[in-house]
Amino acid sequence: MQKKVYLCSMISEKIAKHLVIGADKLISQASNVVILTHLSPDGDAMGSSLGFKHWLIRQGKKVNVVVPNVFPDFLHWMPGAADDLVYENSKLQADELMEQADLIICTDFNEPKRIGTLGDKLMNLLESRPTLSRQSVLLVDHHLFPADFADVTISYPDSPSASELVYRLISQISVLRQQPFSLDLDTATCLYTGMMTDTGNFSFNSNYPEMYEIVGNLVGIGVNKDAVYNAVFNSYKADRMRLMGFCLYQKMRIFPEYHTALIFLSRKELYRFNFQSGDAEGIVNLPLQIKDVYYSCFMREDKVYPSEVSQAGGSNIKVKISMRSQGDRPVNTFCHDIFNGGGHMNASGGEYYGPIAEAVKLFVDNYANFFRQD
Ligand code: 5GP
Ligand code: MN
Repeated sequence: MQKKVYLCSMISEKIAKHLVIGADKLISQASNVVILTHLSPDGDAMGSSLGFKHWLIRQGKKVNVVVPNVFPDFLHWMPGAADDLVYENSKLQADELMEQADLIICTDFNEPKRIGTLGDKLMNLLESRPTLSRQSVLLVDHHLFPADFADVTISYPDSPSASELVYRLISQISVLRQQPFSLDLDTATCLYTGMMTDTGNFSFNSNYPEMYEIVGNLVGIGVNKDAVYNAVFNSYKADRMRLMGFCLYQKMRIFPEYHTALIFLSRKELYRFNFQSGDAEGIVNLPLQIKDVYYSCFMREDKVYPSEVSQAGGSNIKVKISMRSQGDRPVNTFCHDIFNGGGHMNASGGEYYGPIAEAVKLFVDNYANFFRQD
């Protein structure tokens, strides 16, 4: 059944006009679209890719979303999520879809490396483009320093979510086409989910009125924001809740003079709690609830994926590092310099190839050079 369609009020034009024109041209020319989003998809990765998908389907396009690896259980309810192809499990089918696509849209990541082996496939396709010149790439993202691989790069690192950028892009395309701007409930629900998760339910990066105009439009369409909150945040598995308790009770180190907390988990500990993708989501934020803790780091051991073997230097263990901070206290420089990563000022990450004890030592040896004592 076709869902209710709601006419949205207009918001300001954030995306530069030439980019909207470029994106509109790519979309208008395409009939067969594949959308890609980042490894370990979160609410914004799923929201921006699926939101875009539902809108494009209403424009008469054939659209498939390919995710590099499985997304967490608490996002399975999202409209269309069950149809996502997981590259790890469906490589041949996804490769074929990508080869047949005339437009590849990338949301919520800034460089091919951030989608694992799917990035290798994307780069191979782009390198063979002289023979496949009909194929184009559109990037819609909010991470710093986008790599130069797309035909049209819409990158606004000051935007709190890729989902908000997708909302703005499709609203500006409507203006360009002189069409009324309307959205269906599936598009709206997905975009709302991404906006909500990347702002911690509107508790950071969320202090400007237009965000709430957009939220108002989305709720006007029929998005049940309370139900979305419940589906995402009140649906933990008991194992995950116990893992959080274990982290806080036994695994959290505090460095009071630098307002810093560190939690780290070995593969053995993750195994004990039946760890699944997504179970670590949010753990890094927990120590920031402690008075006078402004920097938080969460590390966990992971496997080395086939596409990473060359960087791993013989190690079969990778440590995934997540950092969060409050206020004017950057963590992206630390992640960049110490863990070969990067990200936003208050939310960054990186990687270390080797056992967790070595990554912890690197952290302990270096944090005082980067973090402030006041
Ligand atoms: P998370 O902690 O949720 O995994 O990542 C937070 C942010 O840090 C991401 O949105 C991304 O910008 C950045 N990030 C995480 N891991 C890496 C990494 O390995 N390399 C780089 N360059 N950025 C990362
Ligand atoms: Mn995002």
